[in-house]
Amino acid sequence: MTNIIETRQLKKTYLLGETEVHALAGVDIIITAGELVAITGPSGSGKSTLMHILGCLDRPDSGNYILSGEDVSSLDKDELAKIRNIRIGFVFQNFNLLPRLSALENVELPLLYSAATDAKDKAAQALQKVGLGDRMGHEPNQLSGGQRQRVAVARAIVTDPTILLADEPTGNLDSRTGKEIIELFHQLHEERRTIIMVTHDGHVANECERQIKMRDGLVATDERKE
Ligand code: ADP
Ligand code: MG
Repeated sequence: MTNIIETRQLKKTYLLGETEVHALAGVDIIITAGELVAITGPSGSGKSTLMHILGCLDRPDSGNYILSGEDVSSLDKDELAKIRNIRIGFVFQNFNLLPRLSALENVELPLLYSAATDAKDKAAQALQKVGLGDRMGHEPNQLSGGQRQRVAVARAIVTDPTILLADEPTGNLDSRTGKEIIELFHQLHEERRTIIMVTHDGHVANECERQIKMRDGLVATDERKE
């Protein structure tokens, strides 16, 4: 089994006025290719901070992040952006779609950084895959919450990344719609992608093969299902 993600003593501290907040206080995690991992824990326990570092959206203050064997902890913003664009898809709680672009244009965006000649075809395929083949011309405000999140998932997978990260992807959805999005993640996992998702929902976490619970910026428990 290849370690696709490995962190060693990841630390991140925020300064809030005079107070230091240890958002990550030394996180060690190893994730192998193809795992489906749920991250849970109380609000403020460091889940989003960790996800942003794993997603190369942010850097740790100290410690190492080894992504597919390469230490990316000290890369600069541009280098991180390149890695993110090729290897990682990120799904946010609030969708993060650009409002004036159609679903198709939103999904095409990650491909514009590469020299993809068939960006439109690839974006259309990704939208079909998430069940939105008939909504490609719609703008985000013409779509339901669940459909918006499907567009965001399509955007996350359009570059065919090996890692898919999602930070409370169902947090803004009703439970039925949320369930459909979770089913989509399970389907993507069956296609051998590595998926890490933060969730508040105990049922969702229990359906993942591994659950990492965070507390006070640390891994409190890390359990695999047999
Ligand atoms: P979670 O996602 O588990 O709710 P976060 O990773 O968002 O937790 O936050 C962990 C801690 O770091 C919290 O105490 C939060 O208030 C603090 N924090 C997060 N981002 C910032 C920031 N940009 N500035 C100051 N404090 C922050
Ligand atoms: Mg969070």
